[in-house]
Amino acid sequence: MKISALDLKRQIAPIRGQIDSAIKEVIDNTSFVLGAGVARFEENAAKYCRAKYAIGVSNGTDAISLSLLSLGIKPGDGVICPAFTYYATAGAVAGIGAVPVFADIDKDTYNISLPSVEKILSGSKRAKIKAVIPVHLYGQCADMDGILKLARKYKLKVVEDAAQAFGAEYKGRKAGTIGDCGAVSFYPGKNLGAFGDAGLILTNNKNVAEKLMILRNQGNKNKYYHLLLGRNNRLDTLQAVVLDVKLKYLDRWNRKRQEVAEYYNRNLDGLDIKPPFVPAYTTHIYHQYVLRSAASNNSAVEYLQAKGIDSRIFYPVPLHLQKCFEYLGYRKGDFPESEMAARQIFTLPIYPELTGEEKDYIIQTLKEKING
Ligand SMILES: *Cc1c(COP(=O)(O)O)cnc(C)c1O
Repeated sequence: MKISALDLKRQIAPIRGQIDSAIKEVIDNTSFVLGAGVARFEENAAKYCRAKYAIGVSNGTDAISLSLLSLGIKPGDGVICPAFTYYATAGAVAGIGAVPVFADIDKDTYNISLPSVEKILSGSKRAKIKAVIPVHLYGQCADMDGILKLARKYKLKVVEDAAQAFGAEYKGRKAGTIGDCGAVSFYPGKNLGAFGDAGLILTNNKNVAEKLMILRNQGNKNKYYHLLLGRNNRLDTLQAVVLDVKLKYLDRWNRKRQEVAEYYNRNLDGLDIKPPFVPAYTTHIYHQYVLRSAASNNSAVEYLQAKGIDSRIFYPVPLHLQKCFEYLGYRKGDFPESEMAARQIFTLPIYPELTGEEKDYIIQTLKEKING
């Protein structure tokens, strides 16, 4: 059997008619950038998240960069983020000339470790640090109350990286609506995926929202009058209308992902392997289903791959050990939990349309591997 990590064909097929007619309408109107289609999606996304404002942007990376800019983060400012996340979290910081300051992760949730953040904030770099980016990794929320408490104490801005967690909830509030801004990615492989690059920023602050609308569109308030040093980070209308169709299905899809995860948990129980740990304060929408093995993840992934199962390692190298961040001066051993996770975690395919037969094959294959 061959099981890919994600099969978007199965997701799109049942809603193809709606998507085709939404795309046709954009072509007929020849309104391709921003415009009514984008405004409609922004309104629906804000409503879905119970956020005051949602601003459509070009992608999730730009959503983080723009959020930081809108909150006044300047070149040279330090921005704390976890060492164990996708590159773009820190790439977006460096991209505006700010300095990524890495923190370790919690060993159970894989999200940013509060003691590690506090250690940085009581150290010598404290004065330069102006913001923190908790990442809601794999689809479950970081400990936001803890982050907000530290942010208040040390006067930091908070940008949530909700790229993998659009629709997840922290104590009943949607991921991305708790900090000063929340950055969302609609990269095709995310739980809500566009047909190309797209992103969104959530905020409840009117001034920040107004600034973001200007920043994403070349600093324009009225055309050809540029108030701010803006960028071209606009959302394409074609992407917005596709997302608007798909948004209606997101909760259903996320529930199905949760059912797949529960099935895996139940059937892998008792094996020498650590299932996802979900704290009571958050829901998990399983952008990834991540297991941890005491042995090296490479051998598990190789075994599953050889049997046709597209298991992956997200992420094999923590950011403080990436070549591109060498200039920051970190060393091996600086963030032991991040380094350990990189050696031990691996994913199983998870998506709403996975069949019973496929799930059972995955479980059976993994059992074979673990029990030898
Ligand atoms: C996908 C992702 C991003 C970047 O989003 P893009 O839309 O690909 O630019 C940022 N952070 C995390 C954690 C992500 O998973």
